[in-house]
Amino acid sequence: MFGTTDDNALSCFLSPSMTVTKKHEPADVRINNRMMVFGQIFSSCPMSRAQIGRKTGLSRVAACEVVSDMLDKHFLMENGYEQPTRPGKKGTLVSVDDQYWNVIVLDLSMPFLLQAAVMNLRGEIVTRVEKSFDKITAITPETVIALAESLLDGASHILGFGVAVPGIVDEDGVVVETANFGWKNVPLRKMFQQHFGKFCTVDNDANSALIGERFCGAGRATGIFVQIAVGVGAALLIDDSLVLGIHHAAGEIGHVVVDPDGPQCTCGKRGCLETFISAANLRRRINENPLDRTTILQEAGRSLGHVLAPSVSLLDLDDIFVYGSKDIVDDIFLGATEYAINAEAASTLQNHSIRVQQCSCGNDIVLRGESIAVVQAVLRNANEYKRVPPVGLEPTTQDLKGLCSAN
Ligand SMILES: [Zn+2]
Repeated sequence: MFGTTDDNALSCFLSPSMTVTKKHEPADVRINNRMMVFGQIFSSCPMSRAQIGRKTGLSRVAACEVVSDMLDKHFLMENGYEQPTRPGKKGTLVSVDDQYWNVIVLDLSMPFLLQAAVMNLRGEIVTRVEKSFDKITAITPETVIALAESLLDGASHILGFGVAVPGIVDEDGVVVETANFGWKNVPLRKMFQQHFGKFCTVDNDANSALIGERFCGAGRATGIFVQIAVGVGAALLIDDSLVLGIHHAAGEIGHVVVDPDGPQCTCGKRGCLETFISAANLRRRINENPLDRTTILQEAGRSLGHVLAPSVSLLDLDDIFVYGSKDIVDDIFLGATEYAINAEAASTLQNHSIRVQQCSCGNDIVLRGESIAVVQAVLRNANEYKRVPPVGLEPTTQDLKGLCSAN
């Protein structure tokens, strides 16, 4: 793994497949350097080339080469001069270019509501639209594409599209299953790329949110992110590598059985975690028994902690972020989760405790994370990228070189 030992630095930019067991080609090193520099500048911009070299461990020559290339492609921009600490030439500062490229991102994680936005490369919203639906099954791939199309006039120099979906997404951007909408094997990436002629990423919404928390919030290089919404999902980051799973279903904890004699779940089993802690189920129970709110949320928090504890022990994790509406994911819920995990997973031989906290990015976390996922995919732009688009549509090195002139 390249990068610094500073756990808070976005040193390797969430590269999922740069393992130490594989011989790296020169192109791999260039990709990794590009992603590492972008991640470093994203977290600490603006920086001089010398600072970038020191932070990333790149030689001065290599840092200058990467920065020059990324300036040419409008991923970075020059941004004033550093304050001199001694007589001599002042270094030029560079930062992420938030002026040139736009990314169009769609968040499908909310029930009955589609959210979409034009974003810049810093994961900031330029313009946004929302569309609500009476029936969740009315949300179709065609309605999603139509909403994206409505944003075209507000975007310039479109780098690509990103869609965050509450379901299982494979390496080709096919939505294998999303129970909420009733979609099965929908080739969403291919549909977007054919419709718009631009690169597109499609990701599980919990993974998008985790990327958002890592880049724009308090997330560190290793941790678990739990999302409590229509269902319950999780995402896992290990040394800044997103764990996708052999069947693209890593983090699908919602159907882990907590109580075999519990309520019937939509999956056919009884007592799944989702039947206890999904937002809809908790709201219903609280509405029926408002005086028992504290007890209900404590039980829910303990159930989540019980399901997470083995993974926390197995992987020696100490950071867990939970995203969900604040009427559910409050201090009572989080405190009960943290207590259960520490009671079940923390060893008396260790002198640290496991923290469970509300994510810090707010309601736009999925949009922000997915916009960064698009940038990350374009920067990776090579055969190392697991989620390769359909043949003929993937961005090649030539495409990347032409990105600046094509828009
Ligand atoms: Zn289930």
